Amino acid sequence: MDAYEVAVIGAGVHGASVAFHLASRGIRTVIIEKTSPAGGPTGRSSAICRAYYTNAFLATVARDSIAMLRDFESHTGRESGFRRSGLLVLHAAEDESTVREVVPRLNDQAIPTDLLTPYQVAAEWPAFDLGGIAVAAFERDAGYADPVLTTQGMFERARELGAEALLGRPVTGIEPEGDGWVVRTGDTSVATQRVLSMKHLGFTALRDTARIAVKNLLRGQTNFIRMLWKFDSVYNPKLQLADHNLPVRYEISLPPAPRAKVNRNTLYVHHAHGRGGREIDEATEVFVDQTRAGAGD
Ligand SMILES: Cc1cc2nc3c(=O)[nH]c(=O)nc-3n(C[C@H](O)[C@H](O)[C@H](O)COP(=O)(O)OP(=O)(O)OC[C@H]3O[C@@H](n4cnc5c(N)ncnc54)[C@H](O)[C@@H]3O)c2cc1C
Repeated sequence: MDAYEVAVIGAGVHGASVAFHLASRGIRTVIIEKTSPAGGPTGRSSAICRAYYTNAFLATVARDSIAMLRDFESHTGRESGFRRSGLLVLHAAEDESTVREVVPRLNDQAIPTDLLTPYQVAAEWPAFDLGGIAVAAFERDAGYADPVLTTQGMFERARELGAEALLGRPVTGIEPEGDGWVVRTGDTSVATQRVLSMKHLGFTALRDTARIAVKNLLRGQTNFIRMLWKFDSVYNPKLQLADHNLPVRYEISLPPAPRAKVNRNTLYVHHAHGRGGREIDEATEVFVDQTRAGAGD
């Protein structure tokens, strides 16, 4: 039976990351995956990467993770597909005091975030329906990555650094044995000192999702529930683009068009004088003609 210090069960983004970091530290690691890397929820993720969290620790971890995704090649020799797009979060009045408290703290944590009024949002992104929006936050360094590239990048790098991988192998049992554990996968078993199991939708996640769903339903909002059941049809880029083309109806009035006229002359430090400003006297004209390259030939 092969022996390892750590067995990681599941090669989603978390499992691949754990294996990569363990292997980077020289820890003998095996990663066991029942399908393929990013074969579960990870491969379906929108992979939005933000550090806009109310929890300060989480924000710091996310900030450093975004920095790693941006600089992924130097860590893994591969692409994460990270694109910096910024992230705009719109908040209702009930969130306003928290947002006003959190945004300065995020800036102190080197997470550049702007606090915006609905008027500023409307000026920058005129297509948004801002009904019920009291304040917004724009995290400048947020973006999105490619979840499959990111997972495969860390998974492959972990293997290069010495981690073993068992793919297409569901774990069927974990049993304590001596000081460690035996992990069974089909007719193969591996012995480890520790087991790390990554499972996305556990009881806590289900409970939290149910809370959000009920809260939204009480407010008469059904889009979240519909999205959960019909994600593929709701998340349709064609529908999204068609939505952008619809005439926009604003619930708040837009700022008036600027009325002040700009005096164009005030835009120049050195005023342009036209041809008149370039005129030269007769003696200089003659001198220029005589000394022009090729004039003496
Ligand atoms: C539609 C969608 C959109 C999302 N958008 C975002 C987003 O924009 N931003 C964001 O941060 N998060 C997003 N998420 C959430 C994010 O994708 C997950 O939090 C993350 O992928 C979880 O990764 P994980 O490695 O913990 O779990 P998983 O991706 O679930 O990986 C677990 C792995 O374990 C394997 N496995 C399970 N059981 C066994 C077993 N017995 N033996 C061996 N292997 C096993 C599975 O095959 C799987 O590959 C989104 C998720 C979905 C579904």
